[in-house]
This record gives sequence, C-alpha cells and structure tokens, in this order.
Amino acid sequence: MSVLRIVFRRSKNVQNIVKQHSACMSSAPQPVREPEIKHAQIFINNKFVDSVSGKRFPSISPVTEEVICEIAEGDKADVDLAVKAARDAFRLGSPWRRMDASERGNLMYKLADLMERDAVYLASLETLDNGKPFQVAYAADIPLSIKCLRYYAGYANKNHGKTIPVDGNFFTYTRHEPIGVCGQIIPWNFPLLMQAWKLGPALSMGNTVVMKPAEQTSLTALYIAQLSEEAGFPPGVLNIVPGYGPTAGAAIAKHMDVDKVAFTGSTEIGQLIPQYAATSNLKGVTLELGGKSPNIIFADADMEQAVEQAHFALFFNHGQCCCAGSRTFVEDKVYDEFVERSIERAKKRTVGNPFDESVEQGPQVDSEQLGKIMNLIESGKKEGAKLGTGGVRHGDRGYFIEPTVFMDVKDNMRIAQEEIFGPVMSILKFKDLNEVVERANKSMYGLAAGVVTKDIDRALYVANSLRAGTVWVNCFNVFSAAAPFGGYKMSGNGRELGEYGLSAYTEVKNVTISIPQKNS
Ligand code: ADP
Repeated sequence: MSVLRIVFRRSKNVQNIVKQHSACMSSAPQPVREPEIKHAQIFINNKFVDSVSGKRFPSISPVTEEVICEIAEGDKADVDLAVKAARDAFRLGSPWRRMDASERGNLMYKLADLMERDAVYLASLETLDNGKPFQVAYAADIPLSIKCLRYYAGYANKNHGKTIPVDGNFFTYTRHEPIGVCGQIIPWNFPLLMQAWKLGPALSMGNTVVMKPAEQTSLTALYIAQLSEEAGFPPGVLNIVPGYGPTAGAAIAKHMDVDKVAFTGSTEIGQLIPQYAATSNLKGVTLELGGKSPNIIFADADMEQAVEQAHFALFFNHGQCCCAGSRTFVEDKVYDEFVERSIERAKKRTVGNPFDESVEQGPQVDSEQLGKIMNLIESGKKEGAKLGTGGVRHGDRGYFIEPTVFMDVKDNMRIAQEEIFGPVMSILKFKDLNEVVERANKSMYGLAAGVVTKDIDRALYVANSLRAGTVWVNCFNVFSAAAPFGGYKMSGNGRELGEYGLSAYTEVKNVTISIPQKNS
C-alpha cells in the first residue's frame, strides 16, 4: 500500500484527487518539517527588496501560534514601485512585448518544471504557512498548480482572433491583445493554486502582473517569484507585494495605472473592489467570492458513497473552500441513516499536526478564522440545531477545531445562510425534488452545488435548475485547469480557468482596413 493510500484510506474522494493529479509526480515523499524560509521580501523587477517604510509583519504558524518569520510589509509606496516596474515591462518594444508567444509559453513550462523539481520543498512550505496536510499539498495543490501553468502555457500562441465579413469593401479582423498591468489579489486557502489560477492566463496572454498574496500565506508566493526569475521571465513581468488588504490590496485596486484587477476572497471585500475600480480608472474587475453551496443527497444514492462525498465536500481543506458543500440537503427517507453515518465519519476524521502522515485535518489558518467559526458554531447551538459531534476547539494550542456535524438545521439559521469556512457540516432534511431545488437556490451565493443520485433524469434536471457556476453530480471538488470556475449572484463575476478564463486577460481589438477596388 502506498503512503498516499494509507493516509487517505478513509477517503475515496481524496484518493481520486490523488490519482487524478499525481500522475506528473512520483509517489509522496517525506516532508521537510522545518523548511528554510528563503524569501520574505517584496519582489519587484526580479529583485527582492525591503518595503519603502521598512515595516515588516509576522507570519504566524497556525499549528504553534508562533512567529514563523517577519515579512516585508508592502503598502501604497511599494505598490507604486511594483506597478511602475510592471508598466515598464509592458512598454511597447520591451523584451516581454517583443517575445514570441510560443516563447512566453516556454517560460511558463519552465516555471512549471521548476515547481515540479522543488515540489517537496514547496508543499512543506505551504503546510508550514497554511496548515494544510503535507500529503494533500503535495498530492493535490502542487500538481494542480503545475497543471494549470502548463495548460495556459499551451494557450500562449492559441488565443486566435477572427476575420469578420463586414459590409462594404473592408477587411476586418480581431486581435486578442493583453490588457496590460494586471493587479491580482489572492486568498490564503489555496495559496499556490490561487496564484497559478491567476498567473496562468495573465502571463499566457502577455500581461504583466502585480500580485498581493494573503497576509497569512505569503511564503510560497515569494518562492514562486524566485522560480520565475530562474525560469527566465524578464524583470517587471511578475511582481509580488506582500502586505495587508486595506493597505497594499486597496492600493492595487485603486491604482490609476493598473488596467485590470482580479480578486479572490470574501464577498464583503469583493463588494469593495469594484468601488475602488469605479472611483479610480474604471479598470476591469473579475471576482471569485464566497459560497454556501447546496449538496443534495437523494434517497436512491449509494449510502456509503453519499456519506463520503458529502464529508469530502464539506471537510476538504478543513472546510476552507469557497465552494464547500456547506448545506447538505438529505431526502427524508434516508435522513436518519445518513445523519448517523455522517457523524460516525466525522468522528473518525484525524485532526493534528499537518506534517503527520495520518492527519486529514490540520488547523484553521488563523485566530480570526478560529473565532469566527466558533462564533457560528455557538449560533447553531443557540438557534436550535442539534449537535451530532464536535462543536469545540481541538486542544488549546494552534487553531484546531473538532470536525463538527449539525443536524436538524433550518434554512433560516445563520449556519445555513452564512459562509462558515470551517469544518462544520449542516444537514437539512427535504421531502421532494422541487422543494429542494427552490430551497437550494434561496441563497445570495451561487458558486457551486452537488447532487448525489443514481437517476440520470433527476441529476440533469437538478443540474440545469441550480443557479450555480459549477454543479458536481456524484462527485465534488473535482477541479481541472480546463474547466471554468466562477459564481452566479454574489459569488462573483467572470470565470477563471479553461478557455473561458482567457477573456478576463485579453482586450479584443477590431482592425478594419479599406480595400481599394481595382475593377472600375
Ligand atoms: P478572508 O476573510 O477569507 O481573509 P478577504 O477577502 O479578507 O478574505 O481576503 C482575501 C484577500 O483580499 C487577501 O489577500 C486580503 O489581504 C485582501 N484584502 C482584504 N481587504 C482588502 C481591501 N480592502 N482591499 C483589497 N484587498 C483586500
């Protein structure tokens, strides 16, 4: 039995993820438990520099609550320098603008190769900084990030324009051109993967980038900066400014010389970003925000598969997924059995040091998240949901929470409406198809949804009826660089990944040429 099989023996879904994505990696090695911190400065023009203010901020270990290192704290002045570098790298005639599109792709392939070379180090650093299990970082986050870069590397010379038959004697064609300097603000739940989702299409289409990683998890982003330099990207193409949201993040979104901003994070901040854009230079905005995804279990489902799917849908990455299946709707005929088995499954979930092989769940990312989740758990208890298991902090050091299952949850409870972003499963009962579709859609969010049934007609009806950007049938959390991801309603706008993701990073130019008539 391989190491991964031992680790994931309880989770067929994670096994599938591992099988799906580890093809480009050898079997899981041992982590580096104390990875060296090689970079903790701002990256501008292919150089690591201190912040203009000289300020630094701590990166805290979610396992020990101790400071891992101090990181240079970027602010408006640093963003200004990064934008200047990105603008210069984008100037007409620059090495980046003159570079063949296929060569841009080659640089991206090289970056992906370097990530593969350093996969153990990168996964270890991700685990240290974020708290996710090393085995998951190594088997899912890293290969998915590599595949994303390779997918978009291939697109560098394939985003074709069109020729268009306009009336009159004209030749009209379109060019798909880069937008320019792209600001990218990313979250902490999948630091490397979110970075790859943003860099992939932006670099492939020939843009330059100023990126701000989340303040909780800057370390792997800064190491990727070093790899980008090693891969041969010209100075200024990729700039990374660690720092806080209201300072460095807002400075990017408000900047008059940033042409587009892409944001992944909370809906609350997602509502601010377009305001920043509108009151500065009307830059384009794409948003990938929160969710409260319904996961609908019908009575005809294979019970073991349904319990495992629902468990994985919610608890994967400690519940810290914007698409988490956080409203588990179960048909009344199988409700009691499903609840009982889900509680058993949650009780078996192993919580502990994410570097340990047997651990499925590490700590939440920081004390703020811990507090927010505990507050929502308390609200569930107060509002009358029945606690099946968990509901308390795990240990007294580190931001761990016991896997928690609430049953008899009602639609109007906070735990059924607000994004918890933690290991808290809310199980709701339903009677019939149309009722559950209506209740599932009654949410301000529309990011993802799941349905578990053996009835293909029902699966298709539900998939077509749900107002969500992604619907998973008899599976959950299946991601591919080739398949689009994004939200309806307040879960965001625009799509990331796949061919659809290219349009967020291209301007379409129409060129019309008069054709002189020779036959008169
Ligand atoms: P969470 O609550 O999950 O931490 P946030 O939406 O606060 O999610 O954070 C996601 C990203 O947005 C992080 O990189 C964070 O620093 C950044 N951010 C937070 N506030 C702002 C802001 N006012 N302007 C721009 N970026 C912000």
